[in-house]
Amino acid sequence: MTDLIALSRDVLDGRTPLAMFERARKGEGQGRSRLHVINEDVAVVHSFGHCVVFRTGEGLVAFDTGVRAAGPGIVKAIREWSDLPFHTIVYTHGHVDHVGGSPAFVADAGHARPRFVAHENVLGRFARYRTTQGYNAAANTRQFGWLPETLLHLAGKTGDATTTLPPFLPEDVAEPDVTYRDRLTLDIGGVTFELHHAKGETDDHTWTWVPKYSTVVSGDLVKWSFPNCGNPQKVQRYPGDWAAALRTMAALEPDLVLPAHGLPFAGRDRIRTVLGTVASVLEDLVEQTVALMNTGAPLDEILAKVQVPPEKLALPYLTPAYDAPEFVVRNIWRLYGGWYDGNPARLQPPRDASLAEEVTRLAGGAHTLSVRARELAASGDLRLASQLAEWASQAAPEDTEIQQTRHDVYAQRRDAEPTVMGTGIYASAAAESAAQLKRLTTGW
Ligand SMILES: [Zn+2]
Repeated sequence: MTDLIALSRDVLDGRTPLAMFERARKGEGQGRSRLHVINEDVAVVHSFGHCVVFRTGEGLVAFDTGVRAAGPGIVKAIREWSDLPFHTIVYTHGHVDHVGGSPAFVADAGHARPRFVAHENVLGRFARYRTTQGYNAAANTRQFGWLPETLLHLAGKTGDATTTLPPFLPEDVAEPDVTYRDRLTLDIGGVTFELHHAKGETDDHTWTWVPKYSTVVSGDLVKWSFPNCGNPQKVQRYPGDWAAALRTMAALEPDLVLPAHGLPFAGRDRIRTVLGTVASVLEDLVEQTVALMNTGAPLDEILAKVQVPPEKLALPYLTPAYDAPEFVVRNIWRLYGGWYDGNPARLQPPRDASLAEEVTRLAGGAHTLSVRARELAASGDLRLASQLAEWASQAAPEDTEIQQTRHDVYAQRRDAEPTVMGTGIYASAAAESAAQLKRLTTGW
């Protein structure tokens, strides 16, 4: 069994190449739930969304439940370690990779239903998911490149994916029995858990201080990649509050941090460095963006000017593997401003199709745009290449050569993009053009 604490120590101290850590991280997404013992009474089940579990005198206290399909495997892994009943399950937040596996904890044979505890905003999140199931299924399909079959699998269902797509939030997810607003202290079987609310990745986060083990259970507030604080397809995120939460955690001087993604890590100095560095990067992004907003600068200028130093993005816990600083800047703009980006032509803009038609006419035809898009892509300017390919395709959607260009530009962009979010969106654009090409050449 991998010693996760030793692995994270070596990665953070620069002794282990990032590639090894990446391999360990990739293993999380492959559906196998594996229990790692941290000490006699603390364990972590690694899954897509880990489950952190404490043994107490009154039973087990668990944090998070994984995705719907992973729930049974997580419970099984815990059962090989302890047969005590689940006393309390805390949701660190309401994302489906944290609450989806809850039915397996309810169904755990021979035991009463455990108590579920969460921040009160989890209830609002569940309600929002139920009114936007279709949007969330579509957005996550783009974000992760999921196929309809994957959605079925994640919902723990079988059947025909073309006719019965499951709801984004599984119907049988366990509702919280106890909610709180700012702080909640739970004393369970001789162990005290101090639950703290924080906004950051979401508005419903709980991070927990466990003094007995000098441990922070961080949820997604610590996640071994650039903070997921700019997601282009999701609701508002809170970088300033996120940084403040990390500072509060650091002030407790924990000896161990147990996150819901990535590796657990130990050692006061190491923890102070990681939490402090992530907090300062977020604070700096907010400060730079707001300072420019206060000069009246438009979003376009702010996106070009606000930067995170490259040496920070090279740190193993700040790589833009999932989200990107550019997306976070847009989120800060949205948090403090409105959706108007400062360009008057975009306040009440032309339809995409009329703009594409006009530009195409001025360029002398869609093929001119398509050829130039290829040249730009070959030179590495994928931002401009994408725009020209998009205009050409909107002006001449039935042209196979132009669809081929659009496909190739987005496929190149997909392969060059470091973030999961960008990769997913470009991949789905390339797939759209591939489907359109198939329809044009085969007639279906
Ligand atoms: Zn998560």
